[in-house]
Amino acid sequence: MSKQNNYDLVVVGAGLIGASVALLAAYKMPKCRVALIERSPRLSLQQHNNQRVVALGQLATGVLDTVGVFKDLQQNACFPYQRMFIWDQHSRGELEFSSNDVDLPQLGHMIDSVHCNYLLQRALEAHPQIDVVFDTRIGELENSENTLATVSTNKGCYSAPLIVAADGGQSSIRRLAKISTNQHSYEQIGIVAKIACSLPHQNTAWQRFLKDGPLGVLPLANNQCSIVWSCKQPYAQRLNVMSDKEFCLELAEALEHRLGEVSLVNPRQSFPLNSNNSARYFNQRIVLVGDAAHSIHPLA
Ligand SMILES: Cc1cc2nc3c(=O)[nH]c(=O)nc-3n(C[C@H](O)[C@H](O)[C@H](O)COP(=O)(O)OP(=O)(O)OC[C@H]3O[C@@H](n4cnc5c(N)ncnc54)[C@H](O)[C@@H]3O)c2cc1C
Repeated sequence: MSKQNNYDLVVVGAGLIGASVALLAAYKMPKCRVALIERSPRLSLQQHNNQRVVALGQLATGVLDTVGVFKDLQQNACFPYQRMFIWDQHSRGELEFSSNDVDLPQLGHMIDSVHCNYLLQRALEAHPQIDVVFDTRIGELENSENTLATVSTNKGCYSAPLIVAADGGQSSIRRLAKISTNQHSYEQIGIVAKIACSLPHQNTAWQRFLKDGPLGVLPLANNQCSIVWSCKQPYAQRLNVMSDKEFCLELAEALEHRLGEVSLVNPRQSFPLNSNNSARYFNQRIVLVGDAAHSIHPLA
């Protein structure tokens, strides 16, 4: 018989969402004991080659502030943006948003998502109400309204009145809770990279709608930017086989040279873009959050 551990809340998945949920529960409810089960080993910044940057608005950075990681993040993995400029390849349509229009110091922040996740995991381990188990494999799930829900793992069983599934787009808890999901391929590839620009990025998030899909350019420190270029498979293949120099020329052209000449700071990475939406976001004592509940196009 495996060891049985009873908690007030069990969270599965220590990504940005699961880690934030566990910390928020502990901060808001001083008696709430939380277990967090994560499949991977704890994150380390040394192995960090993931270039993903996320744009977060005031509400999301407010959560990071509440759980005590935002100040650390501001020192080296966070950049405020004041303006968004959106334009179209095939029309004169343009849209502009500025923080001045809404009387705010910024519209939001660009966040290095791995660095943020690393700080959240460090905060989890330091919190006296939270037990984190890394490197853990999930087995079965018991889910009934009449008794505590229990997830069994190779390190014991974890029970609580509520289990939060924050285990990402391929959620095992969602499958074990028999919640179906509608998966849809955008039939696009997302190419991400970090670039340096010869003209100032003006603390602006740029987005241009091109024939194949949107190209987003997010401002970072030192006049660098993070790009997310969504395009159909044949064009993505052409871009991927280009030399760095050819790719940068194509990118500068796609941006109508508004950021001048560009050069790559990190190698490009690419991945297929899919959406998924769960048929429902809860079933008895299981609640889905984050990508386990739904995920959409990164530039949506
Ligand atoms: C290029 C790109 C740009 C984006 N830009 C933005 C943006 O600007 N703003 C924004 O809000 N969002 C953005 N997103 C989306 C955002 O990154 C995701 O929605 C968010 O990171 C999802 O977090 P999550 O914690 O739900 O899932 P994940 O990050 O997938 O984390 C899931 C966690 O669960 C763990 N796990 C998985 N299976 C198990 C298991 N069986 N047992 C235990 N643990 C498990 C994983 O190891 C992982 O730690 C972007 C996405 C992409 C791809």
